[in-house]
Amino acid sequence: KNAGFPVIKTIEEFDFEFQKSISKRHINRLLEMDWIDKIYNLIFLGPPGVGKTHLAIALGYKAIDMGYKVSFISMDNLVYSLKTQDIMRKSKIKINKIHSSDLVIIDEIGYLPINREEANMFFQLISALHEQTSIIITSNKGFGDWNELLGDPALTTAILDRLTYKCELFNMTGKSYRLTHRKSFLED
Ligand code: ADP
Ligand code: MG
Repeated sequence: KNAGFPVIKTIEEFDFEFQKSISKRHINRLLEMDWIDKIYNLIFLGPPGVGKTHLAIALGYKAIDMGYKVSFISMDNLVYSLKTQDIMRKSKIKINKIHSSDLVIIDEIGYLPINREEANMFFQLISALHEQTSIIITSNKGFGDWNELLGDPALTTAILDRLTYKCELFNMTGKSYRLTHRKSFLED
C-alpha cells in the first residue's frame, strides 16, 4: 500500500465520543466510497489535533482496500514536488502518480504560506484534477484565511471554486486529542 501515508490510521481507532463535531453516520456513509466514483471532494477544516489527518488517512486506506488508487502528500511536499518536477525524477514520479490517482489527499494546507508562483502551480494542478479525481484537503485555516495563505485573492477564489463545487465540508472543532491524551514517559 504505497500511497505515501506517514502512518496508518483506521476508522476503528477513531473515537467519535471525543470528536463530537463529526458524525459517525456521515463517516460510515463515506466509507462506501461512492463519492470517489462521483468525484466529490472532502474538506476537513479545524485547529491542530482534532483528527483531520487521521480521518483523511483512514478514508484513503479504506479506498485502497476497495481498489482505488490513492496518493497522500503534504502540502509542503506537494509544492516542493511541483517546483522541482522538471529537474528531479523523484518529484516527477510523485506528480505523475497524483495525476493517475482516483483520490489525492493533500494534507495540511496552511502551515506555511506559499508564494504567487507556487500558488499558481497549485492552481494548475487543482484545475487538472477538477472533475477527474477526488481530492481530500485538510487545513488548519478557515477559507477566510486562504487569501493570505495563497497570496492572491483571484487565484484563491478560483482554487476554492473548483475544490468546493462538489464537496463535503467538515468544520471540525474541539480540543486537541494530542493535548488531552498527552503521554508521560515517567508517570505511567
Ligand atoms: P490534525 O490533523 O487535526 O491536526 P491528527 O489527525 O493528526 O490531527 O490527530 C492527532 C493525533 O491524535 C493522531 O495521533 C490521531 O490519531 C489522534 N486522534 C485525533 N483525534 C482522534 C480521535 N477522535 N480518536 C482517536 N484518535 C484521535
Ligand atoms: Mg493534520
